[in-house]
Amino acid sequence: MAGITNGAVVLTPPRTPAVRGRLVDAPVAGTKRVLLAAPRGYCAGVDRAVIAVEKALENFGAPVYVRKQIVHNVHVVSTLEQRGAIFVDDVAEVPHGAHVVFSAHGVSPAVVQGAADRGLQAIDATCPLVTKVHREATRFSKQGLDILLIGHTGHEEVEGTMGHAPERTTLVTSPDDVAGLEVRDPDNLVWISQTTLSVDETMETVRRLRERFPNLQDPPSDDICYATQNRQVAIKKVAPAADLVIVVGSANSSNSVRLVEVALEHGARAAYRVDYASEIQQSWLDGVATVGVTSGASVPEVLVREVLDDLADAGYRDVEEVKTAEEDLMFSLPKELRRDAAGNTDERALGGRSRRLDWQD
Ligand code: SF4
Repeated sequence: MAGITNGAVVLTPPRTPAVRGRLVDAPVAGTKRVLLAAPRGYCAGVDRAVIAVEKALENFGAPVYVRKQIVHNVHVVSTLEQRGAIFVDDVAEVPHGAHVVFSAHGVSPAVVQGAADRGLQAIDATCPLVTKVHREATRFSKQGLDILLIGHTGHEEVEGTMGHAPERTTLVTSPDDVAGLEVRDPDNLVWISQTTLSVDETMETVRRLRERFPNLQDPPSDDICYATQNRQVAIKKVAPAADLVIVVGSANSSNSVRLVEVALEHGARAAYRVDYASEIQQSWLDGVATVGVTSGASVPEVLVREVLDDLADAGYRDVEEVKTAEEDLMFSLPKELRRDAAGNTDERALGGRSRRLDWQD
């Protein structure tokens, strides 16, 4: 398989564990085909965060420390590890004075302070759309509002957002949580959310919140980000026609896991998440004519290509892209990285890289 470029790094082809042989082209009723959802894969925030680590390695040399996984994808993390990134859970593990990158999921002010206390040179790769939610939390807190944060317990983004208004934030993890919520003042509430949730489930949670708290205030705009929404819309279009949906993405990737759920809710007969193509089981393809394929926002396209290669082995060579949106959003690099070691502005500072990864022939 060819390598692909990913900014400065040439990503090696996926390390495909040899857990099974080639898939078999077994006969099925109907014509075998793949419906490939678009948009899929890398979003602007993930792209920026991965480039931030690459550029920190270029400018400062290895090792560069990264607090938590820079993005939730095992292939991206292992590739950056091979280049000299060291992933840690806590800034306390980073040697005094070293460079540390904060991940796309964002950090609380306490983490920023912890890094400063150790004299670390911090590079903040928090996605600007997560920073937007942080700012909302801070502003609502200053206005004296209590915040209902819809999100998942233990997710790094949720921990970071709660850390911006710890005294005023209550986590709401699902629609079923709403009935048992205890609040100080039902007339002094605003809701915000994690960026990578199911749109439909979040709207149901808000509906129930409003039923209980009629004076609940809304945030000024959606917190569920454009990339999460676009990938869900695309898989909703694919799912009704799909006997099977394969979502490429890691188990700790919230938006990838949501894509499996959304596919099942919208008519896919079966849906599975895989990190690597080699995880596709022959039995999943029994009687399957149409396979839907998509990937989460932290997934490089090379992993999807490998899935398509394996499906082609099994007779699914007819690939039709189902596109529901164009994406061209780009974010500038963290300010600490906008110049190279010689002081020149880096072209990637302005987002000068395509979201889609190109094959090298
Ligand atoms: S999924 Fe959305 S919030 Fe998360 S990094 Fe991508 S654009 Fe930013």
